[in-house]
Amino acid sequence: MTDLPTDLTRATAADLADALASKTISSVEVTQAHLDRIAAVDGQVHSYLHVDTEGALAQAQAVDERRHSGESLGALAGVPIAVKDVMTTRGVPTTCGSRILEGWIPPYDATVVTKLREAGLPILGKTNMDEFAMGSSTEHSAYGPSHNPWDLDRIPGGSGGGSSSVLASFQAPLATGTDTGGSIRQPAAVTATVGTKPTYGGVSRYGLVALASSLDQAGPCGRTVLDTALLHAVMGGHDPMDSTSIDAPVPPVVEAARAADVRGMRIGVVKELGGEGYQPGVRARFDESVALLEELGAEVVEVSCPNFEYALAAYYLILPSEASSNLAKFDAMRYGLRVLPEGVDAPSAEQVMAATRDAGFGAEVKRRIILGTYALSSGYYDAYYGSAQKVRALIAQDFDAAYSTVDVLVSPTAPTTAFKLGDKLEDPMAMYLNDIATIPANLAGVPGMSIPSGLADEDGLPAGIQILAPAMKDERLYSVGAALEKALVDRWGGPILDRAPSLGGAAAAKGA
Ligand code: GLN
Repeated sequence: MTDLPTDLTRATAADLADALASKTISSVEVTQAHLDRIAAVDGQVHSYLHVDTEGALAQAQAVDERRHSGESLGALAGVPIAVKDVMTTRGVPTTCGSRILEGWIPPYDATVVTKLREAGLPILGKTNMDEFAMGSSTEHSAYGPSHNPWDLDRIPGGSGGGSSSVLASFQAPLATGTDTGGSIRQPAAVTATVGTKPTYGGVSRYGLVALASSLDQAGPCGRTVLDTALLHAVMGGHDPMDSTSIDAPVPPVVEAARAADVRGMRIGVVKELGGEGYQPGVRARFDESVALLEELGAEVVEVSCPNFEYALAAYYLILPSEASSNLAKFDAMRYGLRVLPEGVDAPSAEQVMAATRDAGFGAEVKRRIILGTYALSSGYYDAYYGSAQKVRALIAQDFDAAYSTVDVLVSPTAPTTAFKLGDKLEDPMAMYLNDIATIPANLAGVPGMSIPSGLADEDGLPAGIQILAPAMKDERLYSVGAALEKALVDRWGGPILDRAPSLGGAAAAKGA
């Protein structure tokens, strides 16, 4: 068994799980170590919107007792986790990064959360996010942005920047995310962590606050490919409460991560993702990763997906359309905030609704509601939403054609390294372009993963490589991801995250 570091927050989830199983450590110890780390650093990083100290310790205590009574427990039992604030948690505030849900305490758990509880993972708290998961930086959170542990003046990606920064600053060994257009993969890329968007329907959406129902997918976030696979296995699987949930076993992701074998695989480099607009260093680390995969025994070919060019445009019609409809339920009657219009005696329900939505939603959310309502309005529906759905079908055809000749596809995850807070906030188009490489997978429902590819610019910031696989072949992401991760750890002399000069790095931790 691997020796655990003295600071338990530096251990992988897999090593913590082994030590817990052999009763070398208790879940209460591991959970307390993380709560201490949160108290020490979250004032600077702002990864959490809510820390559930009592709840986490009670769950840790309960799992320790179950273990001592001889109960056979799941692989991750006792390992604490951070949960993105888009997932409902019974008795624990869930805001989705929005003022409109301030003060809402859900009466039920999302299926993913139920699975975490049943598997014995204490929930440390809820992570920050762009409001209703709209954004690539967490700057659209109504509660202020999270910061990138590599450089606190920079964004940790979005919408799941709370979950990525929690991992990169060692405030949790595991986290959950949701990915509608890239919100798991892009934050992973800019923080040198790992994240997977499973096949659409592979993880239940029940109890996730919906953004765009045909694109939303919950998934696992970790610091290593194996940790991410272990969490994927816990989160995934059929759920009768979600009509789009796939009734099939979770793909063998853990086995694939452990085998870490790419020999004989055919890997396609997507010609359309990685050219103009991609930072040269991001591209260079990507090319090196591809060369490593070839050395490991994979065959690499270039593949063209001509319709990916239209993915962003189609996404920004489909997403706002579905979001405008999903967000209609925030009507001041059922959840959270209620604002009475000023100077109106006995206001009507509609007036209360308007005042509440005006005060409760931020600018990006309003922008998308207006866009979506317009695109769906009578007379425009076919021209906008209808055309976008046709483009979506063409993108799925591009994937099908590619997968008839290769096993997986690869590209850079995001075009640039982490930008400075404030840099893109006033320019929606610049913000949207962060997801140019991740959106095609959501439109087609296929799985994708990001792992760190190395340091990519003169500021020493990390980049990510994206791996994509056919639907329900999620295990291929883990075969390729784990093999490449091993080769990259050799090449860089350790995990890339250890090179962070700030809060995340090995050097910083030693000095702390
Ligand atoms: N950044 C993208 C957007 O703003 C993706 C969001 C997501 O995946 N939730 O829509």
